[in-house]
Amino acid sequence: MIKDNLKNIKSSLPENVKLVAVSKTKPVEEILKAYNAGHRDFGENKVQEMTDKWEQLPKDIHWHMIGHVQRNKVKYMAPFVHLIHGVDSLKLLIEINKQAKKNNRTINCLMQVYIAKEETKFGLDPEEVTQLLEDTAFKNLENVRVIGLMGMATFTENKEQINKEFNFLKTFYDQLKNKYGFKVLSMGMSSDYSIALLNGSTMVRIGSAIFGERNYD
Ligand SMILES: *Cc1c(COP(=O)(O)O)cnc(C)c1O
Repeated sequence: MIKDNLKNIKSSLPENVKLVAVSKTKPVEEILKAYNAGHRDFGENKVQEMTDKWEQLPKDIHWHMIGHVQRNKVKYMAPFVHLIHGVDSLKLLIEINKQAKKNNRTINCLMQVYIAKEETKFGLDPEEVTQLLEDTAFKNLENVRVIGLMGMATFTENKEQINKEFNFLKTFYDQLKNKYGFKVLSMGMSSDYSIALLNGSTMVRIGSAIFGERNYD
């Protein structure tokens, strides 16, 4: 039951931690069940799917783009996206800025930091994040705001490994927090969010523990 799952997870989160309900591959009827239980923040990993759902669903939903973003897709979500979690290049930020400007808004973003031991995960090294934040070309962007970091731990049963990776990201986040006015550290999914919380996560992205297993993704 979506409503009960939401309630149970929310009661396990500290008050300052935001829950993003990851609804990728799930139909709008399922999202509405969570909406009717009072939930407003949903995460999707494909721009097309998120835009289709935005069109069909109530407009007070906060849509989070949690997947890897192609630059040519930014224009479709620029009118409504609430937070883009997976930003990993200056080129992408420049495009987000351009499309945000066209829509007369400022779009909030998180830089995705590479913390896992897997080849397939996207993201930047800490040095690349720092470089980017100090780049004049970035500082000149007026319609995009980087408000924190996002990371995904290795997909493993090894809790010590996951703990190490989240701790690494939290340490890096704390180094940048005051200087750049960061307020969001997005880490933790269904299988590892309790470890993320122990390491100071402020935003968890949870799908299957709310909506049940996905058939494919
Ligand atoms: C799918 C996804 C999630 C949620 O995964 P669950 O295991 O279903 O909780 C979180 N973050 C990202 C980036 C995802 O792609």
